[in-house]
Amino acid sequence: MNILVINCGSSTIKYKLIESESETCLITGTVELKGELSDFRKELSNILDGVKKYAIDAVGHRVVHGGDQYNDAVMIDGHVIAAIERWSPYAPLHNPNNLAGIQAAQSILPDIPHVAAFDTAFHSTLPRRAKTYAIDHSLAETHHLKRFGFHGTSHQYVSEKAAEFLETSLANLRIITLHLGNGASACAVEFGHSTETSMGLTPLEGLVMGTRSGDIDPGILIFLAREVGMSIEEIDDFLNNNSGLKGISGLSNDMRAIEKAASEGNDQARIAIAVFTHRIRKYIGAYAAVMGGVDVIVLTGGIGENSSSMRLRILQRLEFLGVVLDQDKNADVNLEDSDSSVSDISATNSRVKILVVKTNEGLKIAQQTEALVKGKDNVDDTRRIPIAVSARHVHLTQETFETLFGNNAELVPYRELSQPGQFACDQTVNLIGPKGRIDHVRILGPFRSKNQVEISRTDEFALGVDAPVRDSGQTHGSAPITLEGPEGTVHLKEGLICARRHIHMHPEDARQFNVKNNDEVEVAIKGGARELIFGDVLIRVSPSYKLEMHIDTDEANSAELDGQCDAVLVYSKVECACGVLQRKRSRLI
Ligand code: ADP
Repeated sequence: MNILVINCGSSTIKYKLIESESETCLITGTVELKGELSDFRKELSNILDGVKKYAIDAVGHRVVHGGDQYNDAVMIDGHVIAAIERWSPYAPLHNPNNLAGIQAAQSILPDIPHVAAFDTAFHSTLPRRAKTYAIDHSLAETHHLKRFGFHGTSHQYVSEKAAEFLETSLANLRIITLHLGNGASACAVEFGHSTETSMGLTPLEGLVMGTRSGDIDPGILIFLAREVGMSIEEIDDFLNNNSGLKGISGLSNDMRAIEKAASEGNDQARIAIAVFTHRIRKYIGAYAAVMGGVDVIVLTGGIGENSSSMRLRILQRLEFLGVVLDQDKNADVNLEDSDSSVSDISATNSRVKILVVKTNEGLKIAQQTEALVKGKDNVDDTRRIPIAVSARHVHLTQETFETLFGNNAELVPYRELSQPGQFACDQTVNLIGPKGRIDHVRILGPFRSKNQVEISRTDEFALGVDAPVRDSGQTHGSAPITLEGPEGTVHLKEGLICARRHIHMHPEDARQFNVKNNDEVEVAIKGGARELIFGDVLIRVSPSYKLEMHIDTDEANSAELDGQCDAVLVYSKVECACGVLQRKRSRLI
């Protein structure tokens, strides 16, 4: 499939024609725009003239702000156009031009699909605690003042590349991705999901950038307005165009020029480098804490990919985290003249892998466009999926069970569950958190190799703990909890999770739905009192599984399904309540 990827930015139109199966870039180019009078239709017609020897199958458009409405790329229709317009005040330099580009391209190529890939989409998984600013909540809600994050396509692409390079699944990795270009941002990619990122409501928050300040005391803005008499426009220009590396150094926004000046003794250039690298190191420490550890650090963007001295400065003194750089490998990185887009610069004794990855947002947008265009006709949207509501429950190791119920105690099955071999037991345990307790929580058999306690968000508040949303089995670095049985008490250092909603299916079901293990899908819940669509539903395929969607009690309540909460895996009693698979989103494993 030949996919034209267009990025109508604030001052340029960048384009790439990509053959998606072979991932080959056939043509690439940049056109400078002529200020506000730019004629997008004319510029795009010229671009298309230049690529007319190729048949174009679809167009992928980069769009900066999609708000919190989109968690993936989407086919462009009237709703998407309206959303891009609605979010324009939050990205005034970008969204209006993105939209002008889309409309011009649609008028020139009306018969092929057009897809929007949002910079914000990858960060739609940010938990509320990371999204929320500590300001008056009603004002924040009225004006959507929350953290959205940007550079999502790049963070997603390089984290997927890192997993591919390490020959493992994203579901096993806690990655810190550092996109260090003219704009710069960090992202905590926890088991494939963005759970923290440094840019916020706008791309101004976070790291020090070429011309943007990044984090700043908001009191400075008040001071500039009140005491210095600067207007809003002046403050905007000051923070976006005259701060960052350019502001501190007084020289340039280009790291190459700053490094050169610093090596010649320019003190302001030295401070610019020190502030830039110090801020990044601070974020690495913070994100390792947020994820309960880090397995991989990825550096990308013009500075991350090309400057060995910046990489060294950023990564020094992180041995306490298990991050040890191999200085020779770091000095030898050359992604331009190499077949590989990934270079491993970690020392052999580094517990954390340090990778330099060449980002390729254009290719990621082409892949997303292709997946949407191909997937559109493939997903079976008629077959119904039975829903089971999973109340809080506990999976135990034999050792933990015996500590709680006495040596040689055995699980007493009282009811078979729908998934083959699984059963609910007679026995229950009490959960004790720092704030409260929940008694009589059902144990599920058979025994497992790791303890796992699955609760809902509501339970989390009752217990006073902060349980992460995890796929079953991924308990590493999860929350602690105390279990109380009739014969003893066990304090688990980790094991408490909110289970991620998922669908069990047999390989034959997967074939029919055109999904594979670890795909993420959207499922529409039909037949409940309140119809809704769950995004971020994980597909789990095994020959031993029976088709069934598992959601927890909070999720069932939100759709007003009538699930009982005193047992586990109860079929919804609402007549015909079922899930309908709407859309799939590939997840690299
Ligand atoms: P953008 O964010 O505009 O896409 P890039 O990712 O292309 O930017 O990064 C551009 C920045 O990368 C330049 O401003 C420059 O500071 C930096 N850069 C590129 N090559 C080098 C290098 N060899 N050494 C240091 N910095 C570099």
